Amino acid sequence: MRKNYVSFSTLLKSVLIVTSPALVVLAVYVFFGMLVLSQAMYACGLVFLATGALIYPFLSNLSTLTHYVNEIAQDKRVAPPALSFLGSAGELSEALNRLQAGWDVKKKQMETIITEREILVDTLPDILIMVNDDKKVVRTNRAARAIFGQNLAGKALDDVIPNRYLLNAISSVIQDLKGREIEFRIEDPMVRDFLAIIERFPVPTAGGISTVITMNDITELKSVEQMRADFVANASHELRTPLASIKGFVETLMGPAKDDPEAREEFLAIMLEQADRMQQLIGDLLSLSKIEMNVHAVPTEPLDFAAVVRKEADTFVRMAAEKNQRLVVTIHDNLPQVKGEANELAQVVHNLISNAIKYGFADSDVTVSAKITTELPQDLNMRNLSRVVALSVRDQGEGIAKQHLPRLMERFYRVDSARTRQVGGTGLGLAIVKGIIQRHRGAITVDSVVGEGTNFTVYLPIYEA
Ligand code: ADP
Repeated sequence: MRKNYVSFSTLLKSVLIVTSPALVVLAVYVFFGMLVLSQAMYACGLVFLATGALIYPFLSNLSTLTHYVNEIAQDKRVAPPALSFLGSAGELSEALNRLQAGWDVKKKQMETIITEREILVDTLPDILIMVNDDKKVVRTNRAARAIFGQNLAGKALDDVIPNRYLLNAISSVIQDLKGREIEFRIEDPMVRDFLAIIERFPVPTAGGISTVITMNDITELKSVEQMRADFVANASHELRTPLASIKGFVETLMGPAKDDPEAREEFLAIMLEQADRMQQLIGDLLSLSKIEMNVHAVPTEPLDFAAVVRKEADTFVRMAAEKNQRLVVTIHDNLPQVKGEANELAQVVHNLISNAIKYGFADSDVTVSAKITTELPQDLNMRNLSRVVALSVRDQGEGIAKQHLPRLMERFYRVDSARTRQVGGTGLGLAIVKGIIQRHRGAITVDSVVGEGTNFTVYLPIYEA
């Protein structure tokens, strides 16, 4: 620590104060003629010098101590000074040292708490944006930056999330001091739904943060909600159509066509067809719900998949013959067993062959082949597998245009509704296939060329004993 010198004026002032009683006594002596002035002046000088010499080290120590305290107050790391002349001030210096050590511990604790909070805020999966009363971003966490970009601090919230509804809600929270919860949507660069909780601090923080916005990305939840709503609407519609038709024919048969045996014959046949359609739809709906319920129970039992494919293909020989189609089944020798559930995989094979025949041209080939392959599709959940069983069902038909492929396996999705109804589909066949394959931790791909045909390939994990 640097040495602190005492200024001359400070020294003079101090000496004057300390020597003032002696000076008064000397003045009294001179006044009553007990001391000649020259002697008094001489004595005065001596007292001044002696006092100055005595108090200088004390004043110097005090100055050093003051400087030390100032340094500590500015949070500087300085060594305690050696105070040679201040006996009790030495204790004071030690006390100050202890105080500084205490502060150091407290400071470390504070720094730890702040770091912990920063990490906590940063790693929270929820999006956090903290703004001031001018709705300018003060702080954000990692989740927020991942979605809305880096360097958000200082930007107007309006520029970060351009959504009037959210901004109005924040304004009202800033005004009324009452928290709010809202849902809002942003559409750029892609559609995203958020649930935002807006809370106002009773007083702004030192950094100016007055309002905290916590946001959850609920896009998926919303789309599941929407899908459920669509599904119920679609299912009701699909059931209502044949039901309305049956009801209409019953009314006609009870009324105008009561005594018309020819009409009765014709109408009853249509009613049976419609009832079959309802039955098929209800069967498919039940299958779907069963698959959904079991989607997490992965089958682990061995299954002779070759036998399943052969048996299912056999049931289609007649249907194919009706369209003069050739059903070619090729199953490679020694096809290994798969991990699977017989009824469900039979349904997969059934639905794919049935579609191939339905949507294949008359007088064409429907080729079913099962083999072992090491060529796995990209999006497989079974990336750690080196080989799988692949079943391919290929038709020569009208094919499917590219834009339909991503949605093809959604429930009730049809490329051409009128055409599908005409060939008797429920719109659930591929959704069921997809659900079953998911449950089996397999994969399905589709390639199609419009005007030429379609090829569905199903990949299934092999059973290893
Ligand atoms: P559906 O019971 O109506 O056939 P799916 O879920 O099985 O329902 O199929 C959905 C839609 O995909 C069908 O309506 C049809 O438009 C199309 N599709 C399915 N398989 C084929 C195929 N092999 N060739 C052409 N289009 C197909």
